[in-house]
Amino acid sequence: MILRPKVRGFVCVTAHPVGCAAHVQEQIDYIRRQGPLKNGPKRALVIGASTGYGLASRITAAFGSGAATLGVFYDRPSEEDRPATPGWYNTIAFERAAKGAGLYAQSLNGDAFSEAIKQQALALIRSEMGPVDLVVYSVASPRRVHPKTGMVHKSVLKPVGQPYTNKTVDTDLGIVSDITIEPATDEEIADTVAVMGGEDWELWMQALAAAGLLAPGATSVSYSYIGPEVTWPIYRNGTIGLAKNDLERAARRIDALLKAHGGGRAFVSINKALVTQASSAIPVVPLYISMLYKVMKAEGTHEGCIEQIQRLFASQMYNGSALAYDKTGRVRLDDREMRPEIQRQIAALWPRITTETLGKFTDIQGYRTEFLKLFGFGLAGVDYEADVDPHVTF
Ligand code: NAD
Repeated sequence: MILRPKVRGFVCVTAHPVGCAAHVQEQIDYIRRQGPLKNGPKRALVIGASTGYGLASRITAAFGSGAATLGVFYDRPSEEDRPATPGWYNTIAFERAAKGAGLYAQSLNGDAFSEAIKQQALALIRSEMGPVDLVVYSVASPRRVHPKTGMVHKSVLKPVGQPYTNKTVDTDLGIVSDITIEPATDEEIADTVAVMGGEDWELWMQALAAAGLLAPGATSVSYSYIGPEVTWPIYRNGTIGLAKNDLERAARRIDALLKAHGGGRAFVSINKALVTQASSAIPVVPLYISMLYKVMKAEGTHEGCIEQIQRLFASQMYNGSALAYDKTGRVRLDDREMRPEIQRQIAALWPRITTETLGKFTDIQGYRTEFLKLFGFGLAGVDYEADVDPHVTF
């Protein structure tokens, strides 16, 4: 099969197995170039491990610290006439590389919100790994079936209280237009908190603790975003922001649990805005990201997921360093994004962005390149004219 990108709105419905493997390898090579972490993780559970920040976390733990990893993810394998989703190919490529390097790597494809997957993970940790010293919770999902009530919660990306109008871009077509999003109902807010808030992270940590599968002094981290005021109505003060507040609430509870368990810790890291499958679905944010990329690349401060997570591990979590908390107890990896000189430039350009000026004032091309890379397209050294077998299995 010759595989080409087929972009539909903010998703690409095809993925390239060889390209995804090359994308994973690029990240492994980056971590290897940074040299080993001192006192890094030895046994890591990564929930949401197949793409974006979770995959970068798994790669950093394994190839930066020689950690055994268990990755939980939710992807679709290939079907008769369609390729798998990228996380499927990424995870196979990761496992092959990790095992090739003599590292333990096991993956569970299924719904992390379910009790069944938690029990399978616990069984694997018990029988094959031993207690974990790092748990990364990096799930980004549009829905959750609640394990206790069976209710289906769907998350929405909406403002709270009043409608929000701003510019947005169709990244595929390059058309900038105004979008007005009506505020969420109370039920939609509660649903979004149920999906993207901290309850499931807590359930995982409680299950691990109850099963005696947390190493003394274990660390747990989950990721969030704040961003500039222009996106606050849809992000920080919107439904997703309220869910992220709940994630911070959960972090405090889990931190107390881990503190009582051999002096461990849990925290939320505020990461940089980056092109991932999750962020491309948020209105307005992709336009902001394409401006951010332009400004940060010009300043030489641009980072991708792997650079962000390597910096988190190397300068905050391990190497003898200490976590540098902000006033509300979060770790800030968005420090470079939020520098006043970066944000001033974006704020000045924002009103001038139109369909006509998109190419001049933003890095829309860089955005598209990064977006396609998520699906394994546009990687150097990959022959996209070659026939490729989409049916890759573990
Ligand atoms: P992503 O879409 O790249 O990754 C999501 C991961 O979650 C995938 O591995 C997917 O398989 C997994 N997943 C989804 N539903 C699942 C389920 N039911 N069970 C098991 N696994 C499931 O997303 P991302 O952008 O890397 O986001 C990860 C975290 O980082 C999120 O909390 C997000 O809010 C946060 N974050 C993202 C950005 C950004 O700009 N992308 C910035 C800051 C923080």
